[in-house]
Amino acid sequence: MTTNELRKKYLDFFESKKHVVISSASLIPENDPTVLFTTAGMHPLVPYLLGEKHPAGNRLTDVQKCVRTGDIDDVGDQWHLTFFEMLGNWSLNDYWKKESIEFSFEFLTKELNIPVEKLAVSVFEGDDDAPFDEESYNIWKDLGLSEERIYKYNKKENWWGPAGQTGPCGPDSEIFFITDKEACGDNCQPSCSCGKYVEIWNDVFMEYFKDENGNYNKAKIRNVDTGMGVERVTAVLNNFSDNYQVDTMKPIVEKIEELTLLKYSELISGDNQEFLSGMRIIADHLRAATMIMGDERGVVPNNVDQGYVVRKLIRRAIRHGRVFQINDLFCFKIADIVINTMQDFYPELKRNKNFILEEMKKEEEKYNRIFDSSSFNNKFKRLVENKESITANIAFDFFQTNGVPPESIKDMAKENHLEIEDNFNENFDELMKKHQELSRAGAEEKFKGGLADTGEMSTKYHTATHLLHSALRQVLGEHVQQKGSNITDKRLRFDFTHGEKMTDEEKKQVENRVNDAIDKKLSVSMEEMSVEDAKTKGAIGLFGDKYGEKVKVYTIGLGDDVVSKEICGGPHVEDLGGIGHLIKKEESSSAGVRRIKAILE
Ligand code: ATP
Ligand code: MG
Repeated sequence: MTTNELRKKYLDFFESKKHVVISSASLIPENDPTVLFTTAGMHPLVPYLLGEKHPAGNRLTDVQKCVRTGDIDDVGDQWHLTFFEMLGNWSLNDYWKKESIEFSFEFLTKELNIPVEKLAVSVFEGDDDAPFDEESYNIWKDLGLSEERIYKYNKKENWWGPAGQTGPCGPDSEIFFITDKEACGDNCQPSCSCGKYVEIWNDVFMEYFKDENGNYNKAKIRNVDTGMGVERVTAVLNNFSDNYQVDTMKPIVEKIEELTLLKYSELISGDNQEFLSGMRIIADHLRAATMIMGDERGVVPNNVDQGYVVRKLIRRAIRHGRVFQINDLFCFKIADIVINTMQDFYPELKRNKNFILEEMKKEEEKYNRIFDSSSFNNKFKRLVENKESITANIAFDFFQTNGVPPESIKDMAKENHLEIEDNFNENFDELMKKHQELSRAGAEEKFKGGLADTGEMSTKYHTATHLLHSALRQVLGEHVQQKGSNITDKRLRFDFTHGEKMTDEEKKQVENRVNDAIDKKLSVSMEEMSVEDAKTKGAIGLFGDKYGEKVKVYTIGLGDDVVSKEICGGPHVEDLGGIGHLIKKEESSSAGVRRIKAILE
């Protein structure tokens, strides 16, 4: 089975169970300051899991592009990728555990023909906060899973959320494929990470709501959220021992084989663990970097936020390329293959192809110069000669003065048998946090598929962002496209495409337009319509590509006074009265993209 067959089978199956297929959202979340990337299918659906009505109904299914920087340290193993695709189905206060587990079981055993004997599952064992999830246990048992294949685990393994201090949360039930790999010992079980058991699917039951006092109360609305890894499932269905042999990854590996003159299959059966993981890291990191750069809201490699992650991924891949003695520029060649294998399903890659290849080349040339510089080389050589232990402080200096990311320094330390201090990652993050005004690198690790802030102030900022977006287009021109938006309850930040610096006159005009609309206390209304209708009505914003897909369109103002019409998930204020005046605080820019920070006062 190919990944494409799996995607189709999954969506068709859930469509037959009355789910509506929705588009994959951008890898870069809109209006969510808590995270850098979309880490799970549920992430773009957060407002709906909190109770907002979804225009497509209460049974949804999709394939979602995901990036998990928290998994970067695991990359090199068989099953963890930085970028992967997640299939998911959701019940928004509709069906519950029985249907959810039965759907999962039917899909795995009937549609994918996986024998029951190859499956193991886990359920929540219960503790002081919430009881044993007997309901799920019994559903699995009734479906024919033998009891020794139903594992009971604690909160650490089998509980989701809440994302912050309070909010929806609940037990989950994970589904594992039992591979033919030999067990690592008598105690080997699904919670073990040796690779014998691969987690392929997770059904999360948002059954509770944790309040300020730390109590777990039964939630008023009950949602089901599930996630299944496309690469992992395709791999196990084909009896592959890892993700890298599936059709979306294999051509990348083949290209690396060509460049390194090594055979992946020989590395798997051989004992050069360093080369094996090196090859996997190159494949994974350049795939992830390509997907992020080629996203609807794609970014270039730089030193902040998502751009910093892209830079880290590319630079680490380049360094591994050097270990393999690849001499020519190679990142763009691999990016080209990633684009070829993914563009049918993700057409945004086609549109961004030249941009990706050019930026890859630039970044590799830049990094090669650093690597060949005597400043960097001599400094590192001295460390090796003195057998120094590598601290986060040392790595941070390399990052700041030479632009070499910590992952590469760690890799080089290992190759040169240098020690790495305990808590290296935490210490490095601390230093970064001090360095960046608002460091969110690594912040998505805290997210774990969490809930964005939908408080009163951030809702106001959300609406103000729509006003700013349309004012910029009116003043500067229609070429202005949103490139990113980041909202907290204290400020908004908006990135958009525009070639030159804004003049003082233009700034004044934009601010005036926004504040005029606010002074008129214009109303905000929402309508649901198809993407086609939204386009016809002149709505801006990101369009999904599913024909006929229903979206929400928020309009500010009425009749001749309409100042903004934008596709958006919400939430927004009902009228502009009392949102305060918008005051621009700061402007900066990078490569054709300008950034505005503003506050409401
Ligand atoms: P693991 O424990 O293996 O890291 P997880 O508990 O983090 O998995 P979930 O957050 O439940 O996984 O994600 C749902 C599904 O997405 C998983 O069952 C798996 O199939 C897939 N998945 C999760 N992380 C990755 C990854 N880094 N690479 C590939 N697939 C993944
Ligand atoms: Mg994980």
